[in-house]
Amino acid sequence: MNDYQQRDLAHIWHPCSQMKDYESLPPLFVDHAKGAWLYDEKGKAYLDIISSWWANLLGHGNPVINERIKAQLEKLEHVIFAGCTHEAAITLTERLLPLLPKGLTKFHFNDNGSSSVEAALKIAFQYQLQTGHGERTRFMCLSDGYHGETIGALSVGSMDQFARLYQPMMMDNIHVKAPDCYRCPFHKTRENCQGDCIQYAEETFAQSAKETCALIVEPLLQGCAGMRVYPAVYLKKLRALCDAYNVLLICDEIATGFGRTGKLFACDHAGITPDIMTVSKGLTGGYLPMSITLTTDAVYNAFYADYSEHKAFVHSHTYAGNPLGCAAAHGVLDELMDHGVLKKAQTLAPWLTEQLTQRVGEHPHVGEIRHIGLIHALELVADKKKKTPYDPSRRMGYELYQKALSKGLLLRPLGDVLYFNPPLTISREELTFALDVLEDVLQSLS
Ligand SMILES: *Cc1c(COP(=O)(O)O)cnc(C)c1O
Repeated sequence: MNDYQQRDLAHIWHPCSQMKDYESLPPLFVDHAKGAWLYDEKGKAYLDIISSWWANLLGHGNPVINERIKAQLEKLEHVIFAGCTHEAAITLTERLLPLLPKGLTKFHFNDNGSSSVEAALKIAFQYQLQTGHGERTRFMCLSDGYHGETIGALSVGSMDQFARLYQPMMMDNIHVKAPDCYRCPFHKTRENCQGDCIQYAEETFAQSAKETCALIVEPLLQGCAGMRVYPAVYLKKLRALCDAYNVLLICDEIATGFGRTGKLFACDHAGITPDIMTVSKGLTGGYLPMSITLTTDAVYNAFYADYSEHKAFVHSHTYAGNPLGCAAAHGVLDELMDHGVLKKAQTLAPWLTEQLTQRVGEHPHVGEIRHIGLIHALELVADKKKKTPYDPSRRMGYELYQKALSKGLLLRPLGDVLYFNPPLTISREELTFALDVLEDVLQSLS
């Protein structure tokens, strides 16, 4: 343990960590970073193949984003966003508008992913109330979803052992059995899937839609569930169900937005528009905490009235619409759209799929390789034929994480699911390095 690490552990309580684990593997001290690489105090390099929690969309120290932020810094760093406005936010909405799923026209700025989800839930609830449906008080969500860690967001997520702990604090939501394509209950493959598992949602809607204000989902990719990818047809069917029962559809694009799935937004694969959509993470290239809750005119109009009618959405976060965050978002759009980064990532994705399949597809403990865009995940299993998971107490993923780290690759497995979710600017050479290390550490598995 170096001096920095000792001083860190004396006082810092790290997110999502059992602090005792750091006794044997202290936190990596990152001195600086460039592109997809992190460097420690001795100059040793680590490939950030998970984009620092899926946020760093276009590499660390991206010169275009840096310049945008520097220019903004000289002009205006922050201003109250109630009653005031500024150029970076206005021009950002104008640039985003033609890129969003058609019909999303109103932008409610917030300051991190969870806060945009909380806003989405409150908007949905209040919309129903103000359009004569005060009886619609509950939310539906997918059983293995993830929408953040604040209480509202947590309660529309998976009830795993960590979340269950807080159950007495949570809303009473309705969990719909999520698609599970690797272990499909209908024994379909991804090729011949017609979204049969929608029947679970249909049953739940028939029973509970009348008391439901909105359904919230991660479109096409359930990230925290282990990078579980489900087909566009399922999302289309959810949209149709919501329409049939007058339930609002909230799509949480915090992880999937801005090119992560190969298209600008995951909803684009299904050609649908949600009633409410949340974006964060890639929005600022992972530079600054900012999020937006997007809605349609129809939703917005339910709040637009004389003050005395008390229909306003009275919800705020201090750093909503932060100008530096908006400037970073401009840099992201410069790179993704104007400089062709999205297009380049689209051509890289099939190459990565092929490489990964060739190298580890036949490995006896690689159960499934699943992918969308540049996101590629492999689920490790004890028995490949029976798709039996490893005993979680073996912490197989954590063990491989340590091995990969010592070889200069930063993974952060989700249980026993290893994944790449690299910046879209990553090169073939860098991906080849990641594949080399991955292949190497997988050899230790028996
Ligand atoms: C990361 C994430 C969130 C939470 O965002 P925070 O900024 O960490 O609060 C919500 N939903 C999804 C799908 C995410 O991936």
